[in-house]
Amino acid sequence: MSRSISYVTGSQLLTLKRRPNIAIIDVRDDERSYDGHIAGSLHYASDTFADRISQLVQQVKGKDTLVFHCALSQVRGPTCARRFANYLEEMKEDTEIKNILVLERGFNGWEAAGKPVCHCTSTPCTAESAQ
Ligand SMILES: [Zn+2]
Repeated sequence: MSRSISYVTGSQLLTLKRRPNIAIIDVRDDERSYDGHIAGSLHYASDTFADRISQLVQQVKGKDTLVFHCALSQVRGPTCARRFANYLEEMKEDTEIKNILVLERGFNGWEAAGKPVCHCTSTPCTAESAQ
């Protein structure tokens, strides 16, 4: 059975983000370093995504919801989300992930809607744990 990937809006994500069992995966490439990012998001650039997918699976252990996004969430975001879902199926990974989501309109839409943007330069972003 193929996992379905659904979209969430920025406002829905703001609410979801309060739960500890969610991970936000930013698959933008270089833009992340100069445009800022969603606080607490993980960075898995789309150009190396396929190579790092098993690392991502390890990093999100215990999470049940993953939200992918790129700049607009039209190509890279949904492609990586689909690739991740396929990987879980092919590897028959023992995982707690129930929801694979894509942020509608991506980071640019998020920022344009006045949602909070983190400009820290740490990898990984530590904004969330600092609160
Ligand atoms: Zn940050």
